[in-house]
Amino acid sequence: MSKKVLTTKQGGNGIIIRCSDGTEYEGDILVGADGAHSAVRQNLYAELKSQNKLFPSDDAALPFNTICLVGQTRPLTTEEFPLLEKEECQFVRIVGNDKPFAWSTFTTMQGRICYSVVQFLNEESSKLHDSFRNSEWGPEAAGVMCDEVRHFPVISGGDKITTLGDLIDLTPKEYISKVMLEEKVFKTWYGGRTVLMGDACHKLSPAGGAGAGNALQDAVVLANYIHALPLHPVVEEIEAAFEAYKTDRIEWCEKAYATSKMLQSVVDKGIKPMIVRFMMRNMPEFMKRRAAEQMYSSRPQVAFLPLDETPASVKPTHQRSLNLKAPVEENDEVPAKAI
Ligand SMILES: Cc1cc2nc3c(=O)[nH]c(=O)nc-3n(C[C@H](O)[C@H](O)[C@H](O)COP(=O)(O)OP(=O)(O)OC[C@H]3O[C@@H](n4cnc5c(N)ncnc54)[C@H](O)[C@@H]3O)c2cc1C
Repeated sequence: MSKKVLTTKQGGNGIIIRCSDGTEYEGDILVGADGAHSAVRQNLYAELKSQNKLFPSDDAALPFNTICLVGQTRPLTTEEFPLLEKEECQFVRIVGNDKPFAWSTFTTMQGRICYSVVQFLNEESSKLHDSFRNSEWGPEAAGVMCDEVRHFPVISGGDKITTLGDLIDLTPKEYISKVMLEEKVFKTWYGGRTVLMGDACHKLSPAGGAGAGNALQDAVVLANYIHALPLHPVVEEIEAAFEAYKTDRIEWCEKAYATSKMLQSVVDKGIKPMIVRFMMRNMPEFMKRRAAEQMYSSRPQVAFLPLDETPASVKPTHQRSLNLKAPVEENDEVPAKAI
């Protein structure tokens, strides 16, 4: 819709959002699925803070100690990048010996090379990058970091020495971004008629590859609770549904947060990451299985759609919201409207 939400205002009877183009929308419920720097969250937290209802830890800026450059080359030939000859994805990760960087490359079916460079920040360098926090993602912001990492070597599978600079030169500018890898699970997920989901309430390090999956699972569980609301819910009923949604989801998000944080630190320098790397390489099968069970056993389904019965090797855990039923509609009443 190309709308940018600026402010939200909620009361006993509904909620209004105002957008940057001057338009306004009114509804019964507002779902803030607007990412790590969520405007909905900022509005909600300002309101809760003024009522002394905000968890103190939620009043702090999103913490980060790593920044990341990500890019994707145009499709390459096997002469340009010989590892592309292999049918399986070739994933290579290099941990800098004398620099606070770790970088990875992997091949794709389309012949592109995806790469990411993670920079580990200390207290001083964190401050230097703080001003970047609110700026837009994009090629300009990435430019300085590209120059800094150009000479880092990458393994291409050929005899020719290849560097990240070569990959950067083979990348259309719009396919390079610099992002802050913030990490936090917020404690406040809702207030009144407003509820948060996805990165807006839990920002995970991408090292765990769990951010998008958890955002989708939030959406499924939240949809189940909203679907089961009475046709004309009062604020207390809406908040009870949001509390149930948070209870079902936060435990999984906290687990994913801890796993992602651990996986992020694996590429850091020092003795602890080295021990973790050794343990991961030599982990017995039964422990790998237990880790997989922890990561994949949360698989909520939509209660008001046909269930997916596909058998899986990891059994899904009990899902409370699966038993919820929508209220029976009488005289074609219109149910609560979510924005
Ligand atoms: C480098 C990197 C690699 C990643 N790799 C993985 C991975 O391998 N696996 C994985 O599961 N996850 C990964 N993630 C995380 C994943 O991208 C996020 O967790 C996921 O996109 C969160 O979804 P979301 O819908 O909550 O937020 P977003 O995807 O951020 O979507 C928010 C949307 O809201 C819009 N928006 C923002 N502000 C406003 C506003 N004021 N008004 C209106 N609209 C607004 C934005 O334009 C955007 O479309 C990665 C993240 C990064 C940075």
